[in-house]
Amino acid sequence: MAKPKIAFYWNASCGGCEETVVDLNEDILKVVEAVDIVFWPVALDFKRKDIEALSDGEIAVSFINGAIRTEEQEEMVRLLRAKSGLVVAFGSCAHLGGIPGLGNFCTRGTIFQRVYKETPSTENPQGTVPQEKTDIGVGELTLPEFYDTVKTLNQTIPVDYYLPGCPPPPDLVMNAVNAILTGQLPEKGAVLAPNKAQCDTCPRNETKPEKISIKEIKRPWEIKIDPEKCFLAQGLICLGPATRSGCGETCIRANMPCRGCFGPVGGVVDQGARALSAIASILGLEDEEKMTEEDTQKLVDQIADPAGTFYRFSLPSSLLRRKRME
Ligand code: SF4
Ligand code: SF4
Repeated sequence: MAKPKIAFYWNASCGGCEETVVDLNEDILKVVEAVDIVFWPVALDFKRKDIEALSDGEIAVSFINGAIRTEEQEEMVRLLRAKSGLVVAFGSCAHLGGIPGLGNFCTRGTIFQRVYKETPSTENPQGTVPQEKTDIGVGELTLPEFYDTVKTLNQTIPVDYYLPGCPPPPDLVMNAVNAILTGQLPEKGAVLAPNKAQCDTCPRNETKPEKISIKEIKRPWEIKIDPEKCFLAQGLICLGPATRSGCGETCIRANMPCRGCFGPVGGVVDQGARALSAIASILGLEDEEKMTEEDTQKLVDQIADPAGTFYRFSLPSSLLRRKRME
């Protein structure tokens, strides 16, 4: 019997999601035994025309990582959508926009200005920036359009399932592959990870106070972090209250606060707003009556890069979506 065909594709991302597939270690052999990988540009020499030659729906499942930033990425995911029975948004960038999504705080113009003209290592006296079309005398060279706004995968094509994480951990990937192979998938649109917050599974949960009385908000490098105590109780911002579990509390066990890469739990529309409200509701001085507006402002001012902190992985999928264009 023919094995189900699967594809992997990589858009605007760092490549870490592809590493997760490699991190399956010997389990990758079980995957290869059970399926036929028909597209995986990072590892195998298939071409776009190989995908174009397939019938619609012929690929059982495409695992697509990365946000959508360019015209080429949009074309490729539309092609894969047409050729695939199922599409899984693989990792934070495809799921929520991820780190590349922070580009939505800028425009294409400001990004090009910085990257091609202002960075200390750049020497570009003519101020050349990438052009979509360049006449080179013997023909025209083209580049895909670089969009002004980064989009999530489901803002571009319909997505069937989401595998969260930066990157998704190998055990969740294997569970997803097994569920697909055995047809034991949850309802379409599901995030293939537990629907609980990090705080619910966190080994430091017992030390998380109801009310946190701190005078200063710190950054991890500024203090010696107690490895047993809730980060919030130590004055460190932890997005655990607003983040889905399933990563095995990777960062927390490495003594670093959760940054939110698994995205929100079900039903939450805006992870950043949820995190902000969860943290705002527990911060304060011991005697709340004595908390002045000035004290509150002082605490808020101590949060370095609030937008980047609360929306680190989720800006394109949030209600804000991007900075207002001029
Ligand atoms: S806030 Fe962070 S450290 Fe504290 S219990 Fe929640 S996940 Fe754990
Ligand atoms: S602890 Fe938070 S940031 Fe770290 S891997 Fe888990 S969900 Fe992602």
